[in-house]
Amino acid sequence: MAAAQAPPAPAARFVVVLDAAHGGDDPGGRLSGSQTEKAFTLALSVRLRSLLAARGISVVTTRESDATIDSNRRAEIANHAKAQACLSLHATESGSGIHLFASSLAPAQAVRISTWKTAQAGWVTRSLSLAGVLNSALLHAGMTVTLGRTDLPGIDSMTCPALAVEVAPESAPGRPVKSALDDPAYQARVATALAAALLEWRTEARQP
Ligand SMILES: [Zn+2]
Repeated sequence: MAAAQAPPAPAARFVVVLDAAHGGDDPGGRLSGSQTEKAFTLALSVRLRSLLAARGISVVTTRESDATIDSNRRAEIANHAKAQACLSLHATESGSGIHLFASSLAPAQAVRISTWKTAQAGWVTRSLSLAGVLNSALLHAGMTVTLGRTDLPGIDSMTCPALAVEVAPESAPGRPVKSALDDPAYQARVATALAAALLEWRTEARQP
């Protein structure tokens, strides 16, 4: 007796959450050119959102203005969105290129994990896969990438593949000119590379 063929699953809606870190009372770090981190992350979120929307990706953002939003609220927004990826956007003057951080929680069964602050344990394996896909796509786009794991308030409460993406100036060896965070061309390059990387993740997510 032939096994019943499962009907093809309908293409799930692909949703990305963009979490512009800091905002309002929390300026984040001070960046070159008297920029604040909170303004940089919001600008990157807006730019990335339009690049993704243009490619048919649904985007949910945690903030659209200079608002104070605590990490619990950010996680609530991400979890409600049932996203295939959440990127929490940060910026720093230290290091080089793009730093990708996954939660340092040890992987655990996703089933029945609902404990706030450790919910990401059920998703860490997927988050590390996301980091791997973004890493190769960003390298392909010519970015310098550093991978790490750390405690991530907000992300540790998220029930989706989630990473902190920290943008630093680019000062890779072999590049004669350092790309500063306040360089509009560099900002555009970072957003384009991240959008391309998320498209790659969508492609991988659709593989059976
Ligand atoms: Zn930050």
